[in-house]
Amino acid sequence: MDSFTNQQLQLIITQLDQAIQNHDCWYKNLLRVLVAHLSPEETDLMPDAHRRCLFGQWYDSSQAEFIKEHPAFISLGTSHEKMHHSARVLLQRITENTPIAVSDWDQFSNHLESMRFAFQTLRHEFADAVQNRDPLTEAQTRTNLLTNLSQQQALVERGRQSCALVMLDLDHFKHINDEYGHAAGDEVLVSTVQCIKSALRPYDQIYRYGGEEFIICMPDTTVEQARQAAERMRSAVEAQCFQFAGSDAGLNVTASFGVSALSSSFSVEETMDRADQAMYKAKSAGRNRVVVDD
Ligand code: GH3
Ligand code: MG
Ligand code: MG
Repeated sequence: MDSFTNQQLQLIITQLDQAIQNHDCWYKNLLRVLVAHLSPEETDLMPDAHRRCLFGQWYDSSQAEFIKEHPAFISLGTSHEKMHHSARVLLQRITENTPIAVSDWDQFSNHLESMRFAFQTLRHEFADAVQNRDPLTEAQTRTNLLTNLSQQQALVERGRQSCALVMLDLDHFKHINDEYGHAAGDEVLVSTVQCIKSALRPYDQIYRYGGEEFIICMPDTTVEQARQAAERMRSAVEAQCFQFAGSDAGLNVTASFGVSALSSSFSVEETMDRADQAMYKAKSAGRNRVVVDD
C-alpha cells in the first residue's frame, strides 16, 4: 500500500465505487428479467458474460492496472465470474420457459454474496490506507503501528522470519525552518519520505513517528541487511539538493539512523526504544550516520 500515492489511492476508491454501482444496475436489471420473464440481454447469455458487463470491462481495463496483483482484487474477479456463470443458468431457464431450481438460485446468491464481500474487503483496505496516511508526507500515521509491529513480532517468535526496525530523524531540521521558512521545511519532509520510499521494498512500511522522525518496519530482514538498507537511505537523503530563496548554492539535508531487530527478548515498545536510543547515539557521534543497537 505504501507504494501508492494518496492520489492513486483516491482514484482506485472512486473507480471501485463506480464499478460496484455499474454492477448494482446490472443486478437490478437481472432481477427485472427474472421476475417479469423478459428477454435476457444477449451478452448475459454468453460464456464470457463476466467480461462484457460494465464491471467486467473495468476489471479487465488498464484503469485497474494498479491493483491487478492485489489478492482481494483477484478474488473479486473470481467471484464475479462465478456469479455470471450462475446467472446464465437462471437466464437460460427463462429463455426455455422452465422453472428455476432453488439450488440454482442459492448458488447464484452465494456467488453474489462472495463478490460483494470481496468488494467490501478491497474497498475497506484502500479507504483504511488513505485514512491512516499523514496528509503531508504520505507516510503512515502511528494509528496501526503497534498492531502491525506486534503481528511482525508474532512471526519472528514463531521462527517464520526476522524483522528489523529503522528509526530516523532529520539533522538540524529546526535550522531549515528558521532559515528558509516552514514551507521549505515541509518540502524537505515530503521529498525525503519520497526519497526513502524509493530505497525500500514494496512490503516495507514507513510511519511518521513525530515531526521529522520516522520509523521503518522491514519484514524478512536481518539487522545487518537493515543496516545496509539504512546506509543506502542515508546516502540517498544526503544526495538530495534543495533550492530555496537564500540558499544559492543548493541545500543538502542529512538524517541520523538507529537500527534494531524485533526479537522475542524485548517487547515491541522496548525495540522501538532501542532503535531510538541507537539513533540518538548516531546524533551524538556527529549525525548523518547509522548506528546499530547492540
Ligand atoms: P537534531 O539534529 O538534534 O534532530 O535537531 P533538529 O533541529 O532536527 O531537532 P528539533 O527537535 O530541535 O527540531 C525539530 C523541528 O521539526 C522543530 C519543528 O518545528 C519541526 N517540525 C516538526 N514537524 C514539522 C512539519 O510538519 N513541518 C515543518 N516544516 N517543520 C516541522
Ligand atoms: Mg531532528
Ligand atoms: Mg526529532
